[in-house]
Amino acid sequence: MIGDFRTHFVREPSALRHHPALVLNADFRPLSYYPLSLWPWQEAVKAAFLDRVDIIAEYDEIVRSPSMTLKIPSVVVLKDYVKPRKRVAFTRFNLFLRDEFRCQYCGSKGDLTFDHVVPRASGGITSWENVVAACAPCNLRKGSKSLRRANMSLRKPPRQPSASELMNVGRKFPPGHLHESWMDYLYWDAVLDA
Ligand SMILES: [Zn+2]
Repeated sequence: MIGDFRTHFVREPSALRHHPALVLNADFRPLSYYPLSLWPWQEAVKAAFLDRVDIIAEYDEIVRSPSMTLKIPSVVVLKDYVKPRKRVAFTRFNLFLRDEFRCQYCGSKGDLTFDHVVPRASGGITSWENVVAACAPCNLRKGSKSLRRANMSLRKPPRQPSASELMNVGRKFPPGHLHESWMDYLYWDAVLDA
């Protein structure tokens, strides 16, 4: 478990109902927002036994072994702080996440593809600065024209996001099921509405 624990999180909607534990870094922020850092309860119990985490909230449900009974942990915090990765990988997923799963021309959410802002035929490269999420109709409309010739504009200038920017975007997309004991740790540092 330790070693790949930064990426192996519960993602299946059905598994979200099987008592996963929210994993917090030593600073009490979730290790990851998207996907949300959730371990299967077995991993959380194991990590607690190995003294790698503290249990700070529990489910009402109990697990029993021949030698002990234990409430299933619902929130655990790592004892050792894990440094967040600084560099963001240029992947399809991260690019969609940067663009919040919206077409960067019209803002629609469905049927997303990628578009080269400066067309490849005109020397445009595949980079954070030149690729955006685009819906199929906009992609078709723009074709291999420049923005000006296509008479289209971008919602925001594309650029490489920092890890923390991407993390903040990820917070907007919580999984379908959130246990009440997770709420304090997911939103406690959110900006308060006046
Ligand atoms: Zn569009």
